[in-house]
Amino acid sequence: MRCDRCTGIMVHEKFFGLHEYFWGWRCIICGEIIDPVILENRLSHKNL
Ligand SMILES: [Zn+2]
Repeated sequence: MRCDRCTGIMVHEKFFGLHEYFWGWRCIICGEIIDPVILENRLSHKNL
């Protein structure tokens, strides 16, 4: 998994939302965070 912003390495991490935790990706270089909702949106956009 590579960061879209800086092409850095992204790590799979657990994040805490308002009511529950979720797994997402965080760039260790620039701090970009990709959560499951963002991933889903990207996938649906690709299908268009
Ligand atoms: Zn990055």
